[in-house]
Amino acid sequence: MAAPYPTLLSLRRREAPSRRVERTPCLVPPFETAALRPPQGEVSRLRDADRALIQKAMKPDFDAVVIGAGFAGMYMLHRLRGLGFTARVIEAGKGVGGTWYWNRYPGARCDVESVQYSYQFDPKLEQDWEWTERYATQPEILKYANHVADRYDLRRDIRFETRVTRAAFDESDNSWLVETDKGERLRARFVIAATGCLSAPNTPKIEGLADFKGPTYHTGNWPHEGVDFTGKTVGVIGTGSSAIQSIPIMAQQASHLTVFQRTANYTIPANNQPLDPAYVREVKASYREMRKRAKSLPAGIDLRINMASAIETPDEERRRLYQERWDYGGFGFMAAFSDLLLNDKSNKTAADFVRDKIRETVKDPATAEALAPTNIIGCKRLCVDSGYWETYNRPNVTLVDVSKTPIEKITPAGLQVNGRDYEFDCLVLATGFDAMTGALLRIDVRGRGGVSLKEKWSEGPKAYLGLTMAGFPNLFTITGPGSPSVLTNMLPSIEQHVDWIADCLAAVRARGATVIEAEKSAEEAWVGHVGEAAGGTLRSTCSSWYVGANIPGKPRVFMPYIGGLPAYIERCEAVVSKGYEGFAIG
Ligand code: FAD
Ligand code: NAP
Repeated sequence: MAAPYPTLLSLRRREAPSRRVERTPCLVPPFETAALRPPQGEVSRLRDADRALIQKAMKPDFDAVVIGAGFAGMYMLHRLRGLGFTARVIEAGKGVGGTWYWNRYPGARCDVESVQYSYQFDPKLEQDWEWTERYATQPEILKYANHVADRYDLRRDIRFETRVTRAAFDESDNSWLVETDKGERLRARFVIAATGCLSAPNTPKIEGLADFKGPTYHTGNWPHEGVDFTGKTVGVIGTGSSAIQSIPIMAQQASHLTVFQRTANYTIPANNQPLDPAYVREVKASYREMRKRAKSLPAGIDLRINMASAIETPDEERRRLYQERWDYGGFGFMAAFSDLLLNDKSNKTAADFVRDKIRETVKDPATAEALAPTNIIGCKRLCVDSGYWETYNRPNVTLVDVSKTPIEKITPAGLQVNGRDYEFDCLVLATGFDAMTGALLRIDVRGRGGVSLKEKWSEGPKAYLGLTMAGFPNLFTITGPGSPSVLTNMLPSIEQHVDWIADCLAAVRARGATVIEAEKSAEEAWVGHVGEAAGGTLRSTCSSWYVGANIPGKPRVFMPYIGGLPAYIERCEAVVSKGYEGFAIG
């Protein structure tokens, strides 16, 4: 049987057919070692010519393998090509777009305004692309991703429908061996994980899930052909952003919708609308200034922050300011005052404002009370909606509070809570993701000495700047744990990481080096700083996916860096200006 990798014999046939092979080393390839490396002891008996052949065969197939073709992987490929690096992108989906390829549930759209939630690396792209709504729908964002793929001719270097299952660092020649579910093995000098912060769907382990006789859908892996709920009874588990966006639309279709809510959530109206052409012209004329302002603000979003303290502002004025921002819609609500996530009394004024809005909107007092969140506003990620609270006034929508009595089991006909049966035709799991670490840990990543990433992160993720890990040389993560990522507008954060990584690889090449690795001491100091920063805000105080609380057994660590995008960028730039401080390059 032919070996799935070139043997020394086949190489010699290809390269030097006339020479006699004296010895064909047994090349049984344990994955941790190079497929072409002979067993120990054999090397010394090889002739120089054989050694040269092995050396040549061990040359990386690519300078870089990029995992994932969402916005991060796509831009990474573009930058690598621009620098003359060879690269292969491996993507599990059939197309580009990542989040916007998978999350096709009804009502899916961005909650950072489209003119800001878009690439800025090419001013011509900014000028050519027309967003049609303040918050673009999933189909429009996916169209944009496909436009980018076509415009920069990205697809020819992307392998779709292929999942990376394993990646192991080969210390003998400072390269990575990457294995896919298609049985491919690729060798690359660098691996860049563009695997996404919110790309590993969380299916809760509720007893009986497999027994449900109707269709079950996860918002994070929605059927491409769409789902028509007309005339169906539907049960939805979850009230996070995905549920809050999809519930109003599903309620319009379904004959009855039952929402199972474990934790009530805060949401601010989107006030979404078609974009006024005059506004678009204005934005296009001043994109550079807008992007610059956005990068100077903690969340990377260009919005007005009122520097006053909520608790020190007189009641009437405070209410006026909240109302103004409520009417405008979106995340800017949390920038009404500068201390909403620092001072619990200030936070309560914003939470009370939203709770009052719920009571004003939802007609049934018991439902309104159940929908009113009791935790810190902004602790779990804030949601942005279109008609969410109003949906509970529909006669075909029921809310079931499962906060005190959890879902006991899924039954063939529905589910059971507190001894009571609820029946429906279709089940929707709007149950979120194993965030920030999930997608990476679903790959068997092995660093120096065969140490697994799972082992390294057993007490929570540890990474230098959220970009690299000690013990895992030549491996980079885009928007990894320890970077501002999910606390920001993700597009500028992605671009900043991609640019940093691209420049870093060019610097390594310029030095004639083959390896770059974070020093343990630098990593520890950064992880300590990330933890300290989190401790200073109210954001780390609740059971959110930011701290891994939604995944049973996951270590409780606040994963993103909360110090803000400007401070983070400054730190990344300082590391470079000090000759890649905290890195060993060789
Ligand atoms: P992703 O888009 O998640 O792409 C990662 C890709 O990697 C996926 O296509 C996946 O298939 C692939 N992949 C993962 N593991 C493997 C593997 N082992 N092998 C092969 N391929 C693999 N952020 C905002 O800033 N604003 C918003 O409005 C916003 N809205 C969002 C709405 C939803 C529904 C969700 C889920 C997230 C939203 N986000 C938003 C966050 C969003 O994830 C980012 O904005 C951004 O799209 C992430 O891009 P990415 O390329 O880093 O990751
Ligand atoms: P999520 O915020 O994690 O929400 C998951 C929901 O499922 C929560 O209400 C959770 O309850 C519930 N849940 C999970 N397991 C459960 C169980 N066993 N029993 C009962 N309830 C259970 O996930 P998401 O809504 O998919 O959003 C994830 C993130 O993606 C967002 O925070 C945001 O960053 C991004 N996103 C953005 C948008 C947007 O508007 N642009 C849309 C969707 C997603 P608990 O709260 O009690 O855990």
